[in-house]
Amino acid sequence: MTKYVFVTGGVVSGLGKGITASSLALLLKSRGYKVFMQKFDPYFNVDPGTMNPIQHGEVFVTYDGCETDLDLGHYERFIDEELNYTSNITSGKIYSSVIEKERHGDYLGATVQLVPHITNEIKNKVYEAGITSKADIVITEIGGTVGDIESQAFIESLRQIQYEKGTSDTCFVHTTLIPYIIGSNELKTKPTQNSVKDLQNMGIRPNFLVCRTPFETSDSIKEKLSLFCNLPKSNIIDCVDAKNIYEIPLNLHKQKIDELILKQFNLKENKANLKDWCDLINRMDNLKDEVDIALVGKYVELHDAYLSVAESLRHAGYKYHTKVNIHWINSEFLEKENINLKEVFKNIQGILVPGGFGNRGINGKIKAIEFARINNIPFLGICLGMQLAVIEFAKDVCGILDANSTEFDPLCKEAVIDLMSNQKTVINMGGTLRLGNYNCTIKKNTLAYKDYKEEHIKERHRHRYEFNNKYMDILESKGMVFSGINEESNLVEIIEIPKHKHFIACQFHPEFKSRPTRPHPLFDSFIKSSIDNK
Ligand code: GLN
Repeated sequence: MTKYVFVTGGVVSGLGKGITASSLALLLKSRGYKVFMQKFDPYFNVDPGTMNPIQHGEVFVTYDGCETDLDLGHYERFIDEELNYTSNITSGKIYSSVIEKERHGDYLGATVQLVPHITNEIKNKVYEAGITSKADIVITEIGGTVGDIESQAFIESLRQIQYEKGTSDTCFVHTTLIPYIIGSNELKTKPTQNSVKDLQNMGIRPNFLVCRTPFETSDSIKEKLSLFCNLPKSNIIDCVDAKNIYEIPLNLHKQKIDELILKQFNLKENKANLKDWCDLINRMDNLKDEVDIALVGKYVELHDAYLSVAESLRHAGYKYHTKVNIHWINSEFLEKENINLKEVFKNIQGILVPGGFGNRGINGKIKAIEFARINNIPFLGICLGMQLAVIEFAKDVCGILDANSTEFDPLCKEAVIDLMSNQKTVINMGGTLRLGNYNCTIKKNTLAYKDYKEEHIKERHRHRYEFNNKYMDILESKGMVFSGINEESNLVEIIEIPKHKHFIACQFHPEFKSRPTRPHPLFDSFIKSSIDNK
């Protein structure tokens, strides 16, 4: 019998609901339970794949090829489990599925309505996650803030689940804010009281409050919240601002939230095994060295647009007891005519060009790649970063002056990067990229092989364009090595330049598989070389 934890948010957005949900999952897993996670997003896009990263942050891709909310990246990094298509459900998905069923005749005779058709569809998605994952506990985060019009159908569905399953199988954790008012110098509970009232008006009585606060709240605050919000003092948990998100599970554990949830579920409170996590925190608190990495992208004003890449760099740093300072460099800025690249990259030990779409800022990224190649600075290119590394090499080393990608110039003469053949008939933009896991075979005696130490790997993808194999011979003859190939489609997955200290780029997104306690091999070796480059 699967138990269900629902994490809602009140007062304001951006409280770290996703981190709370991930932390609970980590803690329950550490007590020996199989945990699965899921997020509901109230927007009408079917998935975030078509949204601008500046609005929404990065798109996280699951192994089975779902484009999902960036919170799923937190989930995977915290619980170290691979999530799937049942893990991110949007209003867009729910409504289109109900309308499809209506057209198919599944509801023949009925008037199709918000209740029960939409709410049943939502409930089914919760239960489906439980059934397919076979988890003991499913944790579902509801995007947005309680009281938003958009999320009401989700909240109503959860109310029904609470009624159907009862409190020993469902648990509601409401995350809220306790603001500190300068002047009166007090922590204030009223916004929390109001948001719990909103939730109660919709028929849900939260079992726990996780209160985001700048410092520990007092007994009297908890007493007040307990009285007005109708729950025991022990179930009011402080979530004090932390310097590092990975500390939060331990902070919540100290206040026994995991133990109390298991009690509510009548599940055994096995001892928590948090040794690896404590070691990680210890490592993070005792970093001995620093390394400076340039991340050259076009959405650098919103760091969330490169969230998993930044996390992966830091994970590799933890392994070497090194703090990774990320220098966010706007690629358009590098396009200025008399820019002095030596000055820009003066104190930089490694250059990374991440994924991206479209024309803007392309030449700045190519300039950064050229600079890394010529000056023997460790370089890691990801997806678009690999495609641009190929264009740069074709132009500057092989003399193919018109080398380009058909993404930027559909009529270009020398398309070293071209639309994949099966993409040529694609009409819809949403969900049609090459997505999720594909095999890659790694050549021996290459940097890639040295990093992975195995011949057959699987990595997650998100792209429409690919290396044009017509140019393989000429690039190879000038010193580029194609060290990773997808044999099923004969598609280049990894390139490298052995003459260079550390120059490697991949068509896939390694950042989705890095974990704080287990950095991804490509990030690991990139950071190691950058440290050695100091
Ligand atoms: N725009 C490129 C493509 O679609 C690269 C995509 C990416 O970097 N994720 O192939």
